[in-house]
Amino acid sequence: MAGEAGTEPLVILGAGYAGLTVAHEVFRRTKGSVPIVLADRHPVHVLRTELYEIGKLASAGGNPARWTVPLARVFERTNVVTRQGTVERINLAAHRVDLDTGSLGYRALAICLGSVAAYYGIPGAAEQTYQVYRLSGAQRLAAEILKVEKASVDLRGERRPRILVVGGGSTGTELAAEIATTDWTKVAEPHARPPDVFLITGSLPFLVGLPPRLIEYARKILKRSGVTMVHGLNVTEVEPGKVHTEDGSVLAGDLVVWCAGLAAPSLVRGLPVPHGKGGRIRVEPTLAVPGFPGVVAVGDVVEFQDPETGMLVPGTAQAALAEARTAAANLVAWWNGAPLTPFRYRERGVIVALGLGEGAGAVRHLTIWGSPAALLKRAVQRDYALGVARGEPPAIL
Ligand SMILES: Cc1cc2nc3c(=O)[nH]c(=O)nc-3n(C[C@H](O)[C@H](O)[C@H](O)COP(=O)(O)OP(=O)(O)OC[C@H]3O[C@@H](n4cnc5c(N)ncnc54)[C@H](O)[C@@H]3O)c2cc1C
Repeated sequence: MAGEAGTEPLVILGAGYAGLTVAHEVFRRTKGSVPIVLADRHPVHVLRTELYEIGKLASAGGNPARWTVPLARVFERTNVVTRQGTVERINLAAHRVDLDTGSLGYRALAICLGSVAAYYGIPGAAEQTYQVYRLSGAQRLAAEILKVEKASVDLRGERRPRILVVGGGSTGTELAAEIATTDWTKVAEPHARPPDVFLITGSLPFLVGLPPRLIEYARKILKRSGVTMVHGLNVTEVEPGKVHTEDGSVLAGDLVVWCAGLAAPSLVRGLPVPHGKGGRIRVEPTLAVPGFPGVVAVGDVVEFQDPETGMLVPGTAQAALAEARTAAANLVAWWNGAPLTPFRYRERGVIVALGLGEGAGAVRHLTIWGSPAALLKRAVQRDYALGVARGEPPAIL
């Protein structure tokens, strides 16, 4: 069904990788003829893929400028109106969104609200752990590591501060490597002791999805950096200063970081639409939200099963950008009464940062490791950030 003429805008919820790209792409395709309102709780776009850089964030005293781009700058040469506020309710039947700063009516809607840490009901996990899924979480973690490192000067004997990272995917791995390879004597205090870092990988395979020889390479680099890996054990409880695992063991730690998985935000989990794992919206092949014409969902908030391979599209910025381009084309098509096109995902590659100029990954079926991998990852991330800051539609990631 095509949209009816009216003055209500296209409303995009979330100015992350998905929402930002949808806004740019709709503007690019319509040259300003479709009114666009982009709402986010922050006045900035957060470079979330770089939030594992906890040593740099600690060095910056928690100042987030390097990890954010002001939305006003991103959209200054477009008709995109940015609106700051926290989305509290989405009323799909009434075509209305309630923010804590007021309500917005819409003609078309893009839900791009990302994801939050999933704690799977594990006692103490939400309350006793830190995370880097949000900028505020990364800032809190950076401040706490600084505190622990400064206090390490007073630790007796050979004991070092101990940091437990839960989750053996790319976020946990990148963070463990970063913490272990940061020179805390420069960042925290000249007599700070290097932390012992434990990476608790849980029952899922370590770095699942990467080629086996790169996984071995990552293990080797982590070991060299002093990261101790605890394999195959799920965490069953977190208490202040300790983590319980399913075999009954207890690991003590000065702080625990949770990198064990993601779910859709609770307001998305409550929507009257089909849901997949973690409450993600199970979208149609066109990224449309079933039952609500003119509404799409994009990015981490979505569960999309590739109809050809049956594989779920991963929750990555790379996938969010690819989905956003199709979603934008489909929003414009719907606005004009034209048919929608299905989304097809082709992964370009994945690179995991392993600290101190090290990395491992696969790009277009070629494996890449060592400093070339780290340099390529850095270049791609900087290219994205600079493009966004110049107000250009985001490049590949
Ligand atoms: C440490 C780390 C490293 C990563 N590395 C990579 C990588 O190398 N490559 C890669 O492809 N992916 C990587 N990812 C994954 C990537 O960051 C996510 O897949 C990506 O951010 C998803 O984009 P999104 O737009 O769906 O969500 P987000 O980028 O999280 O954006 C969601 C937006 O919605 C806003 N929002 C949420 N709820 C509300 C609300 N209620 N009201 C108002 N605003 C709200 C948020 O403020 C945010 O701006 C990494 C993730 C992390 C945490």
